[in-house]
Amino acid sequence: MTRRSASASFAPGAYVFPGGGIDAADATAHPIAARRASQGDLHLTQAIAAIRESFEELGVLLARHADGRPADDADIAALKRDAPFAAQCQARGLTLAADEVYLLAHWITDRDLPRRFDVPFLVARMPPGQAPVADGSEQFEPVWVQPADALARHQAGTFFMIFPTIRTLERLEKFRSVDEVLQACAAEKPVWTSCPRAGLLRGAETRFMEHESAYGELALVSPDGQMVHHLDWRTDEPVRLLRNVTRLTAPNPGVMTGPGTNSYLVGDPDSGYIAIDPGPNEPEHLQRFWRAAGGDIRMIVCTHSHPDHSPGARPLQAMCKVQPPILGLSSAATARPASEFRPDRELNNAEQLSVTGAGMQHSLEVLLTPGHAANHLCLVLLEDGLLFSGDHVLNGSTTVIDPPDGNMTDYLDSLDALNAACDRHAIEFILPAHGYVLGSAKDAIARLKAHRLQREAKVMAAMRQRPDGSMDDWVALAYDDVPQRMWPVAQRSLLAHVQRLEALQGGR
Ligand SMILES: [Zn+2]
Repeated sequence: MTRRSASASFAPGAYVFPGGGIDAADATAHPIAARRASQGDLHLTQAIAAIRESFEELGVLLARHADGRPADDADIAALKRDAPFAAQCQARGLTLAADEVYLLAHWITDRDLPRRFDVPFLVARMPPGQAPVADGSEQFEPVWVQPADALARHQAGTFFMIFPTIRTLERLEKFRSVDEVLQACAAEKPVWTSCPRAGLLRGAETRFMEHESAYGELALVSPDGQMVHHLDWRTDEPVRLLRNVTRLTAPNPGVMTGPGTNSYLVGDPDSGYIAIDPGPNEPEHLQRFWRAAGGDIRMIVCTHSHPDHSPGARPLQAMCKVQPPILGLSSAATARPASEFRPDRELNNAEQLSVTGAGMQHSLEVLLTPGHAANHLCLVLLEDGLLFSGDHVLNGSTTVIDPPDGNMTDYLDSLDALNAACDRHAIEFILPAHGYVLGSAKDAIARLKAHRLQREAKVMAAMRQRPDGSMDDWVALAYDDVPQRMWPVAQRSLLAHVQRLEALQGGR
């Protein structure tokens, strides 16, 4: 890595990998570059640009003589860093070793940054016997550093780096050798592609990649990438996600509830509001929720009857001047006593609930989704293509399937139903009852399903390995990747898997 000049226009003073833009001459240097059969024209041009930049900035020469001998100090001394690169190499009989350069990652600068870059990050093994020497104008102090050391120094405040560099090192840190890195790149496509998004945590700029939990919420709230959204979980203030969707988180954070239960309001001051999941019976939370709706709640919908979702419904109803109906599904006979619930009216699958104001309608379509609980339902906000997923899909944790009210086969079937709803209604975002908004809805659902089936395979293997084993034995085997303190809860989902497997075997 090298340190950029303090007066550079982009990332001044940051430690970076050498690099720069593609020159017209890079594309015309193909004839003097070696290439892999699988290396496309664009990748070859990028590799040539990387070889040229490495030479101009650091005097590293990734080239070979006709007899295959790598370039050495004599070659480096003979070439001028500021003269046309390819022509000099050709005159000296050198072939550019572009076939040794691989594509590692594809970074696109965040939407909110004034300068936009679309950058391949490339990797190659350092040629033997060479030592980097910085040009002293753009780059300074070349340093060989282990990814973990660079990250530790950055943490300590002595090695400034920008986000893509940090995240690239975090990935590189996981490889044990240069060989492993190059192997991972053999497929000729980036190991990852990312266009990060920025939000505020404790007031400070914080960036996230696509796979991170806050990414979807930032995409929904700030599609153009403006850094305006606060990601701190607060229970004392509603968060406006869209003009017509507000979230208020209940003060019940915990192992099972994450940051707390998300209560949602859908509507506007003219139409009045539909309240989704009032949460536990927490008077202050219900007060704030009621106030966020200006007291004008037209319906209260509960996604299911667990104690962190529905007990607030009756007291919230009682606070309203015109009492809104409580809607949902009655708890089944299988529900635990704390989850008993009767709505004022039972909902039907595909039924629509809407509120209408000054030319604006907000319509929720009901999707019955048993699995997490027998009386679980999800809601699609049709005008905006949003899915309120209750506890069926969560962000940051995996929902528990607790038999007999929970049922694994129902859960998986409901995931399929949600996936179909995403197609039908062009749903991009999922608003869960716990955690931030999820983006790329269909991918999130597919990941969940894959995760469950993977777990099922582990459960099956555990049962085969210990046919006479107890649930305690099987949880230790099938949930060996989950902290032991979570095993009592995991055992409920394990039971759901076991029951499903037994039902599948019995052909029931
Ligand atoms: Zn629940």
